This record gives sequence, structure tokens and C-alpha cells, in this order.
Amino acid sequence: MAKVYNWQLDRKMDYIYEERRPRRQVAWVFDINKCIACQTCTVACKTTWTSGPGQEYMLWNNVETKPYGSYPLKWDLTILKMRKQLKAEHKTIFEAAGMSERALGYLPESDDYMYPNIGEDECAGIVEKGAFFSGIHQVWMFYLARICNHCTYPACLAACPRQAIYKRPEDGIVLVDQSRCRGYRECVKACPYKKVFFNVVTRISEKCIACYPLIERGEQPRCVQTCIGKIRLQGFINRPDRPDPENPMDYLIFIRKVALPLYPQFGLEPNVYYIPPIHVPRKFLYQMFGGKDAVEHAIATYQKAREDRKLLGAMLLFGATEKIVHRFRVDDRYAYGYDEEGNEVCRVPFEEPIHFRPLFDRERRVYRLNIT
Ligand code: SF4
Ligand code: SF4
Repeated sequence: MAKVYNWQLDRKMDYIYEERRPRRQVAWVFDINKCIACQTCTVACKTTWTSGPGQEYMLWNNVETKPYGSYPLKWDLTILKMRKQLKAEHKTIFEAAGMSERALGYLPESDDYMYPNIGEDECAGIVEKGAFFSGIHQVWMFYLARICNHCTYPACLAACPRQAIYKRPEDGIVLVDQSRCRGYRECVKACPYKKVFFNVVTRISEKCIACYPLIERGEQPRCVQTCIGKIRLQGFINRPDRPDPENPMDYLIFIRKVALPLYPQFGLEPNVYYIPPIHVPRKFLYQMFGGKDAVEHAIATYQKAREDRKLLGAMLLFGATEKIVHRFRVDDRYAYGYDEEGNEVCRVPFEEPIHFRPLFDRERRVYRLNIT
């Protein structure tokens, strides 16, 4: 085992291969507070990539209602429980692995894939007598959109005995080489997020490819482009020790620390970052997004974004363009996004302009009402 540095844990950890960070790393930020579970992202991904034989059950993108939703069934509870039973809660899944495995994991049963919308819109909690609103809801739920995290230390890649899974050095996208895969399903077992799927027809594994044909031409993936709630931003992050304040992803993740990785304690350095929901009992979030300090800081920063021009400007870029935003800036009126060549690809006003029409339109000789 090699010793590699995991910035999300701020320590070195065991991994089967040496640390080899890509030139730049593909990453996403999802603002959970804005997701409405319309599943447009799910359908966009499904119709683009997984409409073939053997792919029927695959949801490379899914949106589950927390706390009761999960796909496959109990993916998160199962791995959390396994770590607890082994008394390995302070260890990553690589460090907690047994002698014969490279990562602690389990293979879901086929029944676990039968209920993709289990728990949908179901709330947890009860309202106690005399309750009053404090910002945290006593009855609560939230929507967790999930894709492959294109991890810096992918468990799927670590576990593959054929070295059929690779991480692209140019952008960190994790792919399965289908000509090398022999369908041993070690990747399915190892990925704690359960984002590799076994195709029973072709007998090989498949997973989210980050819409790399789009990314290669400077466009964000389908799940991002189609997001109705504008909760998503995809871009590239630099090395964690060299963040660029003009890069909106670096700014949100490394500099303002408003977006957090999902279950960083597993040790994979996942690259989908979530702005946590502000209305949810905090203990639930601490477990999911890297502990008390990280969650409290992210929520406090988010809640002050209205008074913070630069942070608000970075957030206005979500859903503003199909292009990948490499650089951004703000002035008094707008947030501007630029592509890799420095061309402006979006300009979003801080205040939505309001136009009042004259009551009487002289040209057409009609009266018009303004509805505000
Ligand atoms: S399209 Fe956007 S808002 Fe709709 S479910 Fe997906 S992530 Fe949520
Ligand atoms: S989320 Fe799972 S499938 Fe995706 S890179 Fe990480 S370990 Fe591999």
C-alpha cells in the first residue's frame, strides 16, 4: 500500500497506488437547498446513456429523498454499519479492508435495485407540542442528487484486478475500459456510493462517464445543463493547495468552503461537493458531510451570501450557461463567467430587471396592464 495525502481528511492514508493527481480535476457543486426532485437530471442521463439492453435498472444519476430514500437500497446505511461493526469508524474503507480485499465493501442483491424511488417525499421527525420555528424543521426531508464522484482515490479503480478502470490524467474523469473488463464486479462491491453498475447482458461494468464528449468541447454534462432548479455547476478544481480565487469551483470549495464532499470519511476524496440543506437537524448533516465544523461553517457562509457579492456572484453562475466556466468576476451589477479562452459565456444580473410598460401603447392603440 502507498501512503497518499487526502486533503478532505487532512492526513495521509493507505491506497493501493501512488498519489497521482490529474492536471486538473473535474468537479461539481450541487446546492441541495434548491433541488426540487423533478428528476429531469435523472431522465436526461437515462435517455442519453442507459437506454440499452441490460441498462434498464441503471441510474447513473439519481435523486433520493433523505433520510429514507436510497438507491440501491440502504447503500449508505450498509457501509456505515459495516465500519461500525468493525470498530473502524476512524478508518477509510481502504484501511478497514480485510486481508483478501482492497476496499471494505459489499455487493448489493438484485432486489436492492428494485425500489429506486423508495422513501420519496417521506418526512422524518414529529412536531412536538409547543414547537416553534427556529430555522431547523422538526419534520424534515431533503433531496440528494447523486452521480459518480470521479473520486481522486476511486475504490472502483483500486479494486479492479484487471486494471480495467482508469482515471484520466488530463481531467480526472474515471472510466471503465470495456475491452479489459471481465465482469468480476469487484468495482461494484468496492464503490461505497454504489455508482458502478453491472450489465447482465454484456457482462461488463458500466458507470457515469461525466459526459466526457461534452466536457471535451467545453460544455457541462447533460445532468447539469438540464437541471430545472439550477442547483448544479460543473467545472474543474485545481490542486487543493493551489486554489485560484477566480475559478468559481475553487472559490466555492477551497476558499469559501461552502460546498462539502459526501461521506469524506470513506477516504475516496469524492469530487461532487454539496451545499448542505439549512433546515435539517444538524447531526444528520455532520455524519454526511464531514463533521460539525465543516457543516456549521458552510451553512453560516451560505446564509450570509446575500451580503457577500463575490459569493453570491459565484452562485449565480449555476444554470446560467451550458459552457464550462473557468473564470468569473463580479461588479456592482453583474456576475460574469468566462470560458477557457477568456470569452464571456454568461452575464447574470444581481437584480432581475423589471420593465414597466406604459398603460397606453400609442403605436398599437391598446391599453396594457402591468401585473406585478
Ligand atoms: S434536475 Fe436539478 S432540481 Fe431537478 S431533481 Fe435534478 S438536481 Fe434536482
Ligand atoms: S463514486 Fe464510485 S464509481 Fe465513481 S469514481 Fe468513486 S469509487 Fe468509482
